[in-house]
Amino acid sequence: MKIIMLGAPGAGKGTQAKMIAEKYSVPHISTGDIFRANIKSGTALGMEAKQYMDQGMLVPDELTVRILLDRVAQEDCKAGYVLDGFPRTIPQAEVLEKELHKLGEKIDWAIDVDVPDENIIRRMSGRRACLSCGATYHMEYIPPKKEGVCDTCGSDLVLRDDDKAETVKKRLDVYHEQTQPLIDFYTDRNILRTVDGTLSMEDVFAAIVAILD
Ligand code: AMP
Repeated sequence: MKIIMLGAPGAGKGTQAKMIAEKYSVPHISTGDIFRANIKSGTALGMEAKQYMDQGMLVPDELTVRILLDRVAQEDCKAGYVLDGFPRTIPQAEVLEKELHKLGEKIDWAIDVDVPDENIIRRMSGRRACLSCGATYHMEYIPPKKEGVCDTCGSDLVLRDDDKAETVKKRLDVYHEQTQPLIDFYTDRNILRTVDGTLSMEDVFAAIVAILD
């Protein structure tokens, strides 16, 4: 089962992607997480990606495609995967399609988690992340047990640079310009399904499961 999660930054696609990965026992692959792990460990890839991420811009396709293709070629991806945050541009989607085609494979579903911009801005300003273990929280919706501290590993929680208000607005502009065209791309291939991302986490997940089952 190969699934792509589409939706604006902050639409909740990451949370849903993790839930899908767990239910269907496939890896959850987030290009954003891969970049953040590289930034944390100070690799050259991380340093390059950070310059774009901090400004709310997309990391160049060439770099992003390379790390994604390396990841999906790994053994644990044999039975499928959930892609979270990739593709984000038409050229990325085209390369993915072409590479899968060579292997006689294809994406089964592209799930669009649809949320209006106003809701996104409200949601993202409340997000907090643990840079040590990658756990994410929301001051209003998923607060940690102790304010500012990660439940899982006890590290400090931070507002990611790319979740800051001005960066969020920039990221939404980038989303509408570069990522939203993927809705038409996957509609044309007859694999796009849209779920209402303003519903509760459980209801969004139930809608997704109804599609996948
Ligand atoms: P995310 O955690 O998916 O919201 O991604 C955080 C940031 O990483 C994005 O704002 C981009 O700068 C970068 N990024 C993640 N995935 C991609 C992608 N597929 N293409 C280009 N940039 C990406």
